Amino acid sequence: MTTVLVPLVLATHNAHKVIELRRILGRRLDGIDLRAYDGPEPVEDGDTFEANALIKARAASAHTGFAAIADDSGIAVAALGGAPGIHSARYAGTRDDADNVRLLVRNLEGVDDRGAEFLCAAALVLPDGRERVELGRWPGSVLREPVGGGGFGYDPVFKPAGYNVSAAELHPDEKNAVSHRARAFDALMPIVHELLLGQPT
Ligand code: IMP
Repeated sequence: MTTVLVPLVLATHNAHKVIELRRILGRRLDGIDLRAYDGPEPVEDGDTFEANALIKARAASAHTGFAAIADDSGIAVAALGGAPGIHSARYAGTRDDADNVRLLVRNLEGVDDRGAEFLCAAALVLPDGRERVELGRWPGSVLREPVGGGGFGYDPVFKPAGYNVSAAELHPDEKNAVSHRARAFDALMPIVHELLLGQPT
């Protein structure tokens, strides 16, 4: 007997996030045919992570006719009033991770309150218009200089609470077990299974 897999489109153009998400979702993709989305990118003009994740998932579902999932994520720094927040990817104006990290470190020079958190909204949009969105948080602090060669984005300057290393020094499996993205998709995937496959995980 051949099993028919249900298509689910992953709406992200960020190659690092695709790799991380495939690892995070790995064990929960039974019955699902996860497809990369290469259609037009919508304008992310929402003012929350949740709004922007939904904008991306809606665009991918509308373009393909399939259910779609998307995430929107970033780092919120307490001493900067929550910046860069939803503007994390283009904080320095260049969309370059190293530039963003440099600017963040510079903006926190001489600042003692290093508290920050990574946030990730994970959204599901079905072709019939049903929508769900879940938020994951990963608390920690901003280091005074980058450490470690793994991960991406702000990982080299983010020290997760309870760790003595940066997120860029964690093994990918470890990051993917506790990160904001893991937490958001841990909450979303049972809903995906229920709404898409008609059964909980
Ligand atoms: P998005 O593609 O609009 O969600 O932008 C997310 C941006 O936030 C990325 O470009 C990174 O700079 C940052 N970011 C999100 N998640 C992570 C993470 O897990 N590690 C490091 N940086 C992250």
